[in-house]
Amino acid sequence: MLKYTDAEIVFEEIPDEVTLAINISNCPHHCIGCHSPYLRDDIGEPLYGDTLVNLVEKNKGVTCILFMGEGKDEEHLFHLIELIRHLWRKNMKIGLYTGANNVSPYLWENLDYVKTGPYIDEYGPLNKRTTNQRFYKRFPNEGWKEITSVFWRD
Ligand code: SF4
Repeated sequence: MLKYTDAEIVFEEIPDEVTLAINISNCPHHCIGCHSPYLRDDIGEPLYGDTLVNLVEKNKGVTCILFMGEGKDEEHLFHLIELIRHLWRKNMKIGLYTGANNVSPYLWENLDYVKTGPYIDEYGPLNKRTTNQRFYKRFPNEGWKEITSVFWRD
């Protein structure tokens, strides 16, 4: 079961999209200096399919759904991704921010944006050019490309 603590519209996490970012709890990673350590606990409300649909309906105009974390139930995540594809097809982009260095083949096949890598204090977050984290976008005819540098602010 995936649970979420909150959801909000964001503009910086995914370039050129109006993104509904959903904070998923039960994070399996253990980054030192984690910005949201409470997300390591199994807290929040279940993210059922109809819960997700309600969140999108309450936030009209979103073009992307971003899972901020993957929790510990990959089958549930796959189910939600399939639901999004079924309901909105290619009109709704799907992203994942993970602390892992890679994701499963299913996710590479079915997502549009992926941020990989744990937070490591000495390398900094995605907006530092020293970051270890990587951001990938899938382009319609060219496939996946790493575009991390669009986030760098220094
Ligand atoms: S992946 Fe994110 S939420 Fe999870 S431990 Fe790392 S920084 Fe914290």
